[in-house]
Amino acid sequence: MAKRHTPVLEGAVMTGEGLSYKGVIMEPVVEKCDGCERIVAVEDSKYCPSYAQPERKWAQGVCNFATHVRASVDSEGKTKVNPLKASKRAARGR
Ligand code: SF4
Repeated sequence: MAKRHTPVLEGAVMTGEGLSYKGVIMEPVVEKCDGCERIVAVEDSKYCPSYAQPERKWAQGVCNFATHVRASVDSEGKTKVNPLKASKRAARGR
């Protein structure tokens, strides 16, 4: 028997305001989320099950739930975004 994937965002419903999940309106992921393994596609949009408002998450710096990048602070105290080495997928050529 094939393994069944646990549905993520199960029970989410599309409303006039957007995707509603457990009473929270989920906003689609932003460009910076691209490559993150947490992204879930619902209908024609992509959402983050970890954070309802990805845009706000990134507005504060680097998303700390991201699986594809990690923030580090350089010697001048500036935050840098470092792509993580992909173990499962080839991240080259992007
Ligand atoms: S965990 Fe962060 S980077 Fe990944 S999809 Fe969610 S908001 Fe975007």
